[in-house]
Amino acid sequence: MANNEDLLKKIIAHSKEYGFVFQSSEIYDGLSAVYDYGQMGVELKNNIKQYWWKAMVQYHENIVGLDAAIFMHPTTWKASGHVDAFNDPMIDNKDSKKRYRADVLVEDHIAKIEAKIFKEVEKAAKRFGDAFDEAQFVATNPRVMGYNQQIDEIKARLYPAMGSDDLSDLKKLIEDLEIVCPISGSRNWTDVRQFNLMFSTQMGSLGDSANTIYLRPETAQGIFVNYLNIQKTGRMKIPFGIAQIGKAFRNEIVARQFIFRMREFEQMEMQFFVRPGTELDWFKYWKEQRLNWHLSMGIPEENYRFHEHEKLAHYANAAFDIEFDFPMGFKELEGIHSRTDFDLGAHEKFSGKKLRYFDPEINESYVPCVVETSIGLDRTFLAVLTYAYREEKLEDGSERTVMKIPPVLAPIKAAVFPLVKKEGLPEKAREIFDSLKLDYMCQYDEKDAIGRRYRRQDAIGTPYCITVDHQTLEDNTVTIRERDSMKQDRITIEEISGIIAKRIKENK
Ligand code: ATP
Repeated sequence: MANNEDLLKKIIAHSKEYGFVFQSSEIYDGLSAVYDYGQMGVELKNNIKQYWWKAMVQYHENIVGLDAAIFMHPTTWKASGHVDAFNDPMIDNKDSKKRYRADVLVEDHIAKIEAKIFKEVEKAAKRFGDAFDEAQFVATNPRVMGYNQQIDEIKARLYPAMGSDDLSDLKKLIEDLEIVCPISGSRNWTDVRQFNLMFSTQMGSLGDSANTIYLRPETAQGIFVNYLNIQKTGRMKIPFGIAQIGKAFRNEIVARQFIFRMREFEQMEMQFFVRPGTELDWFKYWKEQRLNWHLSMGIPEENYRFHEHEKLAHYANAAFDIEFDFPMGFKELEGIHSRTDFDLGAHEKFSGKKLRYFDPEINESYVPCVVETSIGLDRTFLAVLTYAYREEKLEDGSERTVMKIPPVLAPIKAAVFPLVKKEGLPEKAREIFDSLKLDYMCQYDEKDAIGRRYRRQDAIGTPYCITVDHQTLEDNTVTIRERDSMKQDRITIEEISGIIAKRIKENK
């Protein structure tokens, strides 16, 4: 369990220094929980989007794309339940004047107990050595059993309290657990209140409430309202899916932790429409598929884990998250939800339009069930940075910071350098650069000593550096340096493109 504030700080600083992520409107001291992606960030982000799009749309004959508008008819959000129920319970500390999500305060308290269990296990593992049986220890050690019981008791109160209209139970739970404000250290709390996370604005010039529209808090509803358009015009047969990448907006109460929790963010969602009764099989299928997609990015399995929802949303009959080991510990990266026929059913009701499918195989017409895969693009970006960021001590005693970004996602695939800035080398290097750039994002760099140029490319994760030297002018060969091993080979100019292509394809 990583809880590495230091690593997060380093990633934030590195992201800024090399043009991955900037604070929004930084010259005005920034806007809280809103970020801009710089020259490297936009490339990485585009590559992640493309990697997802290919896996979902290009590789599946029965999945098609969509780009729906951010603004939607306000009744959409009534039907989806967001107007009435897209709330988080908030609580303020009267001394520090800081606002918190009441459920998160309780969850953090649980995490502290879990950390104690983790410590006990670690201690015991050391004591018992190879003979240590973790499962047995956890099941029988009185102290660990006590902690687990505490957690169960808290959860048994938390979930009903969250679902109840009366939020005083949640306040009571915070009081009973003696949770203090991390800033003031006091237990001087306000009552818990509901806070709707949707941003609203006015459409047109009239300022009355009839014109209130929302910035979409999820991209999914754009898919549901277009279900019939796409099914009909695309002649789609169930099961089929609609995929979409786009911005979503949530007025998060507590928005810290860099691009993990933002107020404006991007989602990559796919809604898969299936025959009712088969949704749990498809749910299982997509759960596996999605984990495989993460692993295919080249990030090892130990960085991921499944988390089953203990409290299901009103529309779901099964839900799992794929969690990633972020610097703040394991947290949600993607959600896979079996949404039943709730959404299409609700839109039928509110719009008065039939959203049915006639299934020729069973000669029946029905409202399809939906299995959703919903992943945060920005969280995937942070996952990639978390995995990729390395500080290495080299054999010669020097140090380097290298981003081991999976090659398929790397913002720049190759950099081309002339060894020196004279004697015809820049011209030759430019020639190579001009031909490579037609197929790959490349950089040309002739400034500073070659070692510093390598370091600059390491810092942005470029898999290959190609150097033109005097020998190049004689025999058309260059050196190619590989980012991770730093190994250099001599190859012909004709071979460069094929080597880069192979590496991207293998993604290792
Ligand atoms: P959380 O519990 O962390 O608030 P959620 O369960 O509300 O997330 P979903 O509604 O399932 O999230 O959204 C799907 C995905 O969108 C999440 O898995 C996450 O990757 C991403 N996401 C949600 N909220 C944010 C946010 N504020 N900033 C960045 N990404 C987000």
